Amino acid sequence: MTKGTLSLQRCETYDQKLVYNAIQKLLAPLGGIKAFVKPGYRVLLKPNMLSCKEPEKAATTHPAVIEAVARICCEAGATVFIGDSPPAIFGRAEEFWDKTGFAAAAANSGAQLLNFESGDKKLVRFNSNGRQLTVYVTQHYYEADLVINLPKMKTHNLTRITGALKNLFGLLPGLAKAQWHKAFPRPVEFSDFITDLAHQLPCGLTIMDGIEGMDGQGPAGGRVVKPGVLMAATSPVTIDLGFCKIVGLNPEEIPMLRRCQALNWGAASLDQIEIVGEPIETLTIRDFRVPRLATMSLVPEWLINLARKLFWAGPRLLPDLCIKCGRCKKICPAAAIVISESGAEFNRKSCIACFCCMEVCPVDAIEMKTSSLLGLLFKLRGIKRNIRKRKN
Ligand code: SF4
Ligand code: SF4
Repeated sequence: MTKGTLSLQRCETYDQKLVYNAIQKLLAPLGGIKAFVKPGYRVLLKPNMLSCKEPEKAATTHPAVIEAVARICCEAGATVFIGDSPPAIFGRAEEFWDKTGFAAAAANSGAQLLNFESGDKKLVRFNSNGRQLTVYVTQHYYEADLVINLPKMKTHNLTRITGALKNLFGLLPGLAKAQWHKAFPRPVEFSDFITDLAHQLPCGLTIMDGIEGMDGQGPAGGRVVKPGVLMAATSPVTIDLGFCKIVGLNPEEIPMLRRCQALNWGAASLDQIEIVGEPIETLTIRDFRVPRLATMSLVPEWLINLARKLFWAGPRLLPDLCIKCGRCKKICPAAAIVISESGAEFNRKSCIACFCCMEVCPVDAIEMKTSSLLGLLFKLRGIKRNIRKRKN
């Protein structure tokens, strides 16, 4: 018995008409939009609006995808809303909407933009790894008859990938998100938290924008890559499994997907999924780079505890780029940043390596630095991988 369907369509440009047609084709095997949207529905689109950057930077869901989905839902008789809560919005919602192209997508499709920061919130309690947690979720999520998750295909310094599961973290409004990095500083702990949270926040449909994505130092400072694919499924777990297959990642090495298995949530692998549309083998891409820090999750916990001083990673300033805006200081959950004459300065003792500062820096003035030993470990892994590739 299959555990869901993954629909795939090739789409290589953000030409509005092509994207609209590709999404119609993508949804057809799932029953078309009418299987999800009834006339009069209130539909919330949840794209990824991580940073105040232009769509070409591939840090955010492309407005052409948002516009196409919004149009299709409006045509089915829904009232459509678009909303997200970036970690560093700091009262600049309009600036984010303009720069990311979300404002134009809303205007062109007849959708309305929502600012999660200013609306009501609902208190949600859930259990994660034996800990009772309390989060605030935007009330807009609960007011919608249907939530459509619109993630971007990107890497993440802490969780390795930021796809469909991680995108739901943005339903928590405001700076509170940074506090969760402090509560769960390690990649596996944080991934478990994100997965347990996503499990509490079901969405009716997920459509991933993988026309252009980001690898390397994601989710904000990586390299733009062009997988040329759109994916749709009812489960975010199915989408992230498809993402892994397309970029050549083993889902077993993605802590969020391991957690899904532990929760018995969704399919354990693509073998349990019916794949429709474009054959997935024709969509795979080579040389997709995964952030190095994520390799920390492969180092055994006892070794990390024992050798914390030897294996570390943290932010480093590129002083020539820093404009001293102070956004990194404001978001830092560990109060590890001061802004001096020469720019941002990091206190390595209090830094928990969450890289929120890197995500919010508007000019990419922060990069990741690692200890020499961790750097060596990365190099060895790189050499090993190259040897394996040559053998293949
Ligand atoms: S590092 Fe980036 S976010 Fe921090 S003060 Fe400099 S420019 Fe602003
Ligand atoms: S300095 Fe940057 S990486 Fe370190 S805790 Fe603060 S936000 Fe996170």
